[in-house]
Amino acid sequence: MRVLVVEDEVRLAGTLRDLLEMDGWAVDVCHDGESGLDNALSGIYDVVLLDVMLPRMDGFTVLHRLRAGGSAVPVLMLTARSEVSDRVAGLDSGADYYLTKPFEPKELLACVRALSRRQPELRRGDTLSFGDLRLERAAFTLSCAERSVRLSRKEFDMMELLMLNQRQILTKESLLLKIWGYESDAEDNNVEVYISFLRKKLGHLHSRVKIRTIRMVGYCLEGGE
Ligand code: CA
Repeated sequence: MRVLVVEDEVRLAGTLRDLLEMDGWAVDVCHDGESGLDNALSGIYDVVLLDVMLPRMDGFTVLHRLRAGGSAVPVLMLTARSEVSDRVAGLDSGADYYLTKPFEPKELLACVRALSRRQPELRRGDTLSFGDLRLERAAFTLSCAERSVRLSRKEFDMMELLMLNQRQILTKESLLLKIWGYESDAEDNNVEVYISFLRKKLGHLHSRVKIRTIRMVGYCLEGGE
């Protein structure tokens, strides 16, 4: 059983690691939000401990993007701030539990154990399918029959969103928001660039699936029949 700790205060992160390891967990630590998100999306963790105030990407954004990416890993948010509005924001964005610092080690361990036992019924399968395509979430690969290609992080995020929203039109704005986040200065043409990368990969796979452009609106998949 493996826990990911995303905490920028190095001493506290070390304390959490020691505490969890003594309780029998395998522990990985990240000190910023971006690497925390990348690791959390790997799908290898049973529980994620997530600080709110983090460099590079705050905990709420990490959580939002983790859920947008289809991960249902139990998340325990940790923060020094105890305001009610933070608690609400945390739960709204898909946190399973919220603990304010300083916390009792026993309470923290009890929370982690309880969350790890939670049935992962909401967890989606490790493979998404559409038409002749399969997206392997653990390996970041897209396959069609015998061919497969590895996707970059953003290509993967985009393909996953398209597959999770089959037959819906995804606007450029929603793709930008879900993939690049609220604080990014990415623009519409970032979306176009990644759509063109994905189209090249679909061509390479000889898939019948196409990414259709709906002018002035967005994108959707076709060829799933
Ligand atoms: Ca912090």
